[in-house]
Amino acid sequence: MRVFKFGGASVKDANGIRNVADIIKAQCPNEVVVISAMGKTTNALEELVAACINQQPDRIRAVLSTIKEYHSAIMNELEGDFSAVHETFSFLEEYVTTKSVGSYNETYDQVVSAGEILSTQIIVAYLQAQYVPVTWFDARQLIRTDTNFREGRVDWQETALRISQAIVGKGVKLTQGFIGQSADGRTVTLGRDGSDYTAAIFAYCLNAQSVTIWKDVPGVLNADPKWFDETVLLETITYQDAIELAYYGATVIHPKTIKPIQNKGIPLHVRSFLTPDAPGTTIGNFKQHLLTPSFIFKVNQVLISLHPNDFSFIAEDNLSHIFGRFAMAGVKINLMQNTAISFSVVVDNDPDSIPRLLSQLKNDFRVSYNENLELITIRYYDQATIDRVLVHKKLLLEQKSRYTVQLVVRDGSQGQRSF
Ligand code: ASP
Repeated sequence: MRVFKFGGASVKDANGIRNVADIIKAQCPNEVVVISAMGKTTNALEELVAACINQQPDRIRAVLSTIKEYHSAIMNELEGDFSAVHETFSFLEEYVTTKSVGSYNETYDQVVSAGEILSTQIIVAYLQAQYVPVTWFDARQLIRTDTNFREGRVDWQETALRISQAIVGKGVKLTQGFIGQSADGRTVTLGRDGSDYTAAIFAYCLNAQSVTIWKDVPGVLNADPKWFDETVLLETITYQDAIELAYYGATVIHPKTIKPIQNKGIPLHVRSFLTPDAPGTTIGNFKQHLLTPSFIFKVNQVLISLHPNDFSFIAEDNLSHIFGRFAMAGVKINLMQNTAISFSVVVDNDPDSIPRLLSQLKNDFRVSYNENLELITIRYYDQATIDRVLVHKKLLLEQKSRYTVQLVVRDGSQGQRSF
C-alpha cells in the first residue's frame, strides 16, 4: 500500500480537482489518498470560530455563506451526487448558530474539521461520477487521539488497529487529513498543516511502501523562492536533515511527519501536482547528508532579553519559571541563549500573545526587546555563505552548531526597547 496526500492548493478549484482526479487515476487507483480542505477554507473556518466565540450572529452568517458559496461554485462546475456535502453544510450551520459553545479549542476543532469533510465529500462524489472505484473513509473513525484539542496526540495502538482493519481491498481509499477523534467521540485536529502528519500516520499503521506529498513546488528546495532568486531542488534528503529543516521552519513538510515514517524506514516523496511526471524530492535512509547549504528565513521576529532584578544569576530555578511562562502563553521559542545574568530568546512576534507575555515577565525580570528582526538559519553553512546573507544586515546574535548556524539580524534602524 502507498499513501498519497494532496494539500489545499491542489484542490482549490474545479480544475485543480480534475487534475488531482487524473493523478489519482494514473498513479494511485488502489492506494490511500489523504486530502486537505480546499484552498483557504481552514482560514475561513477559523474566522467562523472567532465569530462564534465572540457571538457575532451577522459575522457568522456572512462567513458561513462565503464558505458555502465557495464550495457550491466548485460543485456547480463538476458532475456528481453532492447530497452529503449539503448535510455537512447543515451540520456546520446548526453547530455555529445553536450549539452551546465549549472551550475555544474544542469549538475550533468541531468547526474547522468541516473543511476536510466538505473537501473529501466533493471529491469522492466527483470520482464516483467518473466511475473511479473509491471508498470514502471518515478519518475520525480511524485516528484516535486524546482531548488535547487543536494539537491532538495520537493513540498509536488503537489507531493502528482501526486503520489496519479498515484499509483493505482494491480501489482508492479516500480520507481527510488533519482530523481525528477522542475516545468520547469529539473531533480533535492535529495542528495547522496537519494533513502531512495524517499521511504519515496512515503510512506507519499500514507499513506502507511510500508516502507521496503533492505540492505546488517541484519538491524540497534549499531556500524559499519568496526570499531567494536562485534556489536548488534537493533530490534526496536524509530523514535527519528533513527533521532539522522542518524544525527550523522550512514550511514544505510538517515537522511531525518525518518521525513515524523514519521509524519504519518508509520513503517520503515530495512532488509537484503541476508537473506530476517529475520525480521531485525523496526523503529516506540515505548515507549522504545534504551538500548544498539550505536557508530558512523567519521574519517579524522579536528578541527578548531577561535580566534578574536582583542581579542574581540565571540558573535552573529562574529558567524553569521562564519556560513555564512561555509554555502557558503558548509561545514557541525559535532560539535561546543565556549568559550569567541574562537570558535571551527569539520568538515570532505574535501581536496577541507577546505583549501579554512581556507584561507578565516584567513582574519578575528587567525585560528588553528588539522587534522587526529576521532569524536566518543555514544548515551546512560555511563562512562565505554566512557573509553573503549578512550583506546590509546588522548581526545581533549568532549561534553555531556543527552543521547549523542561526543568525538574528536587523535590516532597518529600529532600536532596543525596555521596560
Ligand atoms: N487544512 C488544514 C490547514 O490548512 C490542514 C492541512 O491542510 O494540512 O492547516
